Amino acid sequence: MALIVQKYGGTSMGTPERIKNVARRVAKFKAQGHDIVVVVSAMSGETNRLIALAKEIQANPDPRELDVIISTGEQVTIGLLAMALKDIGLDAVSYTGSQVRILTDSAFTKARIQEIDDANMRADLAAGRVVIVAGFQGVDGDGNITTLGRGGSDTTGVALAAALKADECQIYTDVDGVYTTDPRVVPEARKLKTITFEEMLEMASLGSKVLQIRSVEFAGKYNVKLRVLSSFQEEGEGTLITFEEESNMEKPVISGIAFNRDEARINVMGVPDKPGIAYQILGPVADANVDVDMIIQNVGQDGSTDFSFTVPKNDMARAIKVLEDVQAHVGARSITGDDKICKVSIVGVGMRSHVGVAATMFRTLAEEGINIQMISTSEIKISVVVEEKYLELAVRVLHKAFGLEMA
Ligand code: ASP
Ligand code: MG
Repeated sequence: MALIVQKYGGTSMGTPERIKNVARRVAKFKAQGHDIVVVVSAMSGETNRLIALAKEIQANPDPRELDVIISTGEQVTIGLLAMALKDIGLDAVSYTGSQVRILTDSAFTKARIQEIDDANMRADLAAGRVVIVAGFQGVDGDGNITTLGRGGSDTTGVALAAALKADECQIYTDVDGVYTTDPRVVPEARKLKTITFEEMLEMASLGSKVLQIRSVEFAGKYNVKLRVLSSFQEEGEGTLITFEEESNMEKPVISGIAFNRDEARINVMGVPDKPGIAYQILGPVADANVDVDMIIQNVGQDGSTDFSFTVPKNDMARAIKVLEDVQAHVGARSITGDDKICKVSIVGVGMRSHVGVAATMFRTLAEEGINIQMISTSEIKISVVVEEKYLELAVRVLHKAFGLEMA
């Protein structure tokens, strides 16, 4: 008998029929003798609907009130799932974040969990009840409702698993695990049996949307055994997120390929090559709340140099405007932007112990005539910026070059 936290996402909770399916799955685990805590998302599309509704009243919604509104989606689904369970003869009880007491800080719309009171949940489990908790929400020290950021139900699930010292946290979603890359781009993409936390973190931050980044960080920090599974398949082991030390298997060099279409490149050409220039350029961009990702500065020649960086596509125009305001002060010759780019990254802890990974990547792209505009690396990933029209081709040839289609 184990204590299992199961999290069901918006698609899994999308219709009454699907909610009944979730109830049947929970019942199956319960019948095996496990204690079950279920965390649910709002029905798919509901959080978006609520945000749009709020914006019809106030273009820039008040953060406290926005959390009051967008936390309601999950309050509906916990009640519905509790009813579905009772309907098939199980004892179940639903809790909002504040009823559990998932204490967070007061950063509305992106609050962080500080403490979880497990007393109610423990008492219910001991009494044989299934405990259902609203994902994505908490309460601050003053009793205000807070939410944890988009996709935050994953984090609720992992945090509850950590607080309850659960044996496993199962994230049920509309895919049956973590894939070597998006199967819509590469049909040969393969489901991974395991992936390490570090790799999963990189994949998530580089554009893979399977899990909210913060939930992966949380699981890594608190040693939560995390598994991604499909809520639409009866069987299947999904993908287990492991700690590297745990796996005694020889790791493949590359575990996966992530990509992100949502970046644009900004070039600031002909700036004086002297101390303080990076700050003069990126300071105002940061002040405008634009996230900067990859940054490249060339070796200067004749006292001047070029500076490039990437920003989210939606922020390109704003970032350029900000830079044009300081162009004279910085002494830049020109400022240009290109939003027809994308970022393709290969990820794998095996890179640490293998040489020539970057060379293989660059050769593979060169053979297809794909020009690399920017490169950045970390210990376990290599990212390149290429023209957006080459995204599918780049991902496909890299997938093959690193033998990812083979188990
Ligand atoms: N319902 C919230 C969202 O759509 C939280 C979640 O689903 O994880 O972002
Ligand atoms: Mg989600």
